[in-house]
Amino acid sequence: MTSRTHDTSDQESIGLSADAVWLRRLRRSIISWYSRHGRDLPWRDERDAYRVWIREIMLQQTTVTAVIPYLQRFMQRFPTLIELAHADEAEVLHAWEGLGYYSRARNLHRTARLLLSEHDGEFPRDAEGLQSLPGIGRYTAGAIASFAFGARAPIVEANTLRLYTRLLGYRHSPKTSRGQTMLWEFASRILPTQAPGQFNQALMDLGAVVCTAENPSCTSGCPLTSQCRAFATGEQHLIPLQATRPAIESTIEAAVVVRDGDRFLIHQRPQGVRWAGLWDFPRYTQGSDRVPDESLSPREINRLWNDAERSFSDEWNLKITFNRKVTEIVHHVTRYRIRLVCFLADVTDHQRRSTVAPVESREHAWVRATHFEEYAMPVSGRKLAKLIASEMYSPSEERASQRKKRSASKKAGRDLTRS
Ligand code: SF4
Repeated sequence: MTSRTHDTSDQESIGLSADAVWLRRLRRSIISWYSRHGRDLPWRDERDAYRVWIREIMLQQTTVTAVIPYLQRFMQRFPTLIELAHADEAEVLHAWEGLGYYSRARNLHRTARLLLSEHDGEFPRDAEGLQSLPGIGRYTAGAIASFAFGARAPIVEANTLRLYTRLLGYRHSPKTSRGQTMLWEFASRILPTQAPGQFNQALMDLGAVVCTAENPSCTSGCPLTSQCRAFATGEQHLIPLQATRPAIESTIEAAVVVRDGDRFLIHQRPQGVRWAGLWDFPRYTQGSDRVPDESLSPREINRLWNDAERSFSDEWNLKITFNRKVTEIVHHVTRYRIRLVCFLADVTDHQRRSTVAPVESREHAWVRATHFEEYAMPVSGRKLAKLIASEMYSPSEERASQRKKRSASKKAGRDLTRS
């Protein structure tokens, strides 16, 4: 590995100085590799702008394998832009449940409505026009423009960023504005005039399959070895320069499952907070002290319940009493590691359930555990809902109650025959 360092201008000139012959060779190698080894993705050669848009938004922050079943379900539910535009936001969030980063779903919905009301339901055909729509950034605009409309629009995303920086031997941070300018310029220069969409897909596939983050296949399958600067200097494991990740913070939350008979209280999370628009059990953050990974002690649980009960009564016009701790769920949200302690509580004043309203007006509902599925929930809320549903309403209980009903009606029949 070399110890020679390039200054920024030297690094930048790498991308810009690539001559026509070098670029032609690079393109040929990439196209030839793609025709033999490109990924057999379900959307390969897809040119419908609506479908390209939905999948590209889903693929942000989510892997290809995880996206496939969600994409299929979403497309069944909203096969066209018109269906998406006419849906309620709650339905869209429900179809998005489990993918996280729900602002993506809200932006999809807003954009569908905007396209229908102001663009006759048509997408702009160039990257610039696409970028003016909510939730469509430079990468997504380039992907839609090139895949759907064959526009010569460049792309830079995680896979191509890694590929470009290694090819160019770019040792500086690719996230700075100088790094970004250089990468986008390079992405634009390497694009051929013929089939740019296919070429963009080839670049992403090469980054995803060969020029991987860990152990890139430099000597076992990469068609670009002879043109790659990082390989020449043995620095492929150092490039791209990784940004220091923010430290993970631990925090505790309490969820309160309020029960009245066979119904449970859930509410819709308001705008401006995490998971806005999704349904959830009332939950309260109990400070952001660092906490151990192990379960909490009985004393800590007790304190947590007292705090949660106080917060609940400040927020809802309803008296509740502690029943038991149901479970503890550990989950991650961005840079937070959250221990969610879930309590079951019973309504004390049964008369008030029908008139209860939160102090701040907010959508809420009293639902049976068997109906939780009808409401879009965050992942941790859904886990808790499933647990409650399985505890309160197990199929064996249902079978037992049906048996009881059947034998009661038989008995009633016999009594009638006798009389
Ligand atoms: S030679 Fe290695 S580092 Fe360079 S592009 Fe190929 S796989 Fe990536």
